[in-house]
Amino acid sequence: MSVDTAAAVAERFKELYGAEPEGVWAAPGRVNLIGEHTDYNDGFVMPFALPHTAVAAVSRRADGVLRLHSADVEGDVVELRLDDLAPESDRNWTAYPSGVVWALRQAGHAVTGADIHLASTVPAGAGLSSSAALEVVVALALNDLYDLGQKGWQLARLCQRAENVYVGAPVGIMDQTASACCEAGHALFLDTRDLSQKQIPFDLAAEGMRLLVVDTQVKHSHSEGEYGKRRAGCEKGAALLGVDALRDIAYADLDAALDRLGDDEEVRRLVRHVVTEDQRVERVVSLLESGETRAIGPVLVEGHASLRDDFRISCPELDLVVDTALAAGALGARMTGGGFGGSAIVLAEEADVETITKAVEGAFASAGFTAPRVFEAVPAAGARRLS
Ligand code: ADP
Ligand code: MG
Repeated sequence: MSVDTAAAVAERFKELYGAEPEGVWAAPGRVNLIGEHTDYNDGFVMPFALPHTAVAAVSRRADGVLRLHSADVEGDVVELRLDDLAPESDRNWTAYPSGVVWALRQAGHAVTGADIHLASTVPAGAGLSSSAALEVVVALALNDLYDLGQKGWQLARLCQRAENVYVGAPVGIMDQTASACCEAGHALFLDTRDLSQKQIPFDLAAEGMRLLVVDTQVKHSHSEGEYGKRRAGCEKGAALLGVDALRDIAYADLDAALDRLGDDEEVRRLVRHVVTEDQRVERVVSLLESGETRAIGPVLVEGHASLRDDFRISCPELDLVVDTALAAGALGARMTGGGFGGSAIVLAEEADVETITKAVEGAFASAGFTAPRVFEAVPAAGARRLS
């Protein structure tokens, strides 16, 4: 994110609100390298931050008023009274930043108002966490301006609460933590149970590789209901197995656990995905730590198969990306994010990037799908103050 962007966002703030902002902050979107649908099972995830960010110019107010504006949404400044903020009262984009203010105040932080102008380069609804970027940038700005002293992981928890309770979306903790805590050149190995974390060096360019994000530009309409069903199924599995969360089933005990689930095939499949996926995260961490980066490719492919066949949240577009990329020489590929559309990631040798990109674009054209958006993802910095 360039200084120019910070200056442009500050300039727009001044046009809207008639004074310079007190500061400008940025928070990134993310892609998840491995560890899908494990975060609401208390398990492991491994996201890294994208160079795409939500940027916010912010000033405090003392009069209990919150004013919001986004460069990316048509419309005037929205003005709200802090005392009127209430969970699930807002179905618009403004629910994300308002939810953060609400969550901060609920947690006892003395936030007395703000003027906020936002602009984001994170594509919305592409599974790259534009919502978390929006929440985290607002949380970080208010944390700094009001001197709240919250660490990144604490802000992530508050943002998750904003999205769960205020927006009404039952998301896990990964996206907010990734946006708040990732570091450039690293993937974040995160234990979603206690939010303990480890930065794992992940510099593909230095090893002659690239990671592509393929945004399929589709979002199938049933995705939210299906997410809820998967979540409920995982909770049922944990209850049947007598554990707090599926994270508590060790990989070595998976077969015994599946036997105990008897003929509940639906729950068996969900449990198998979550337990094997946690193990895949651990395998990817140990491969990266021992310098065997190319060997993570097959683990990503296994992860995709598990999401497609056991968790059943892939879709024809995502499968086509993965199959085509692998046939064109990719080291690994898998869907990333919630599923039923959104994005896939492709790990490739630098020399194969063009061939793979053309192959995927060609396959989409032949299938009559909307052209995908393909871009390279370099692990970027987490949330930060720009000026
Ligand atoms: P994802 O987080 O995968 O991009 P979500 O459905 O969780 O998808 O969040 C997308 C929503 O976040 C949008 O519908 C919009 O309400 C809000 N949003 C994202 N980016 C912006 C932005 N730049 N300005 C205003 N609202 C935004
Ligand atoms: Mg989101």
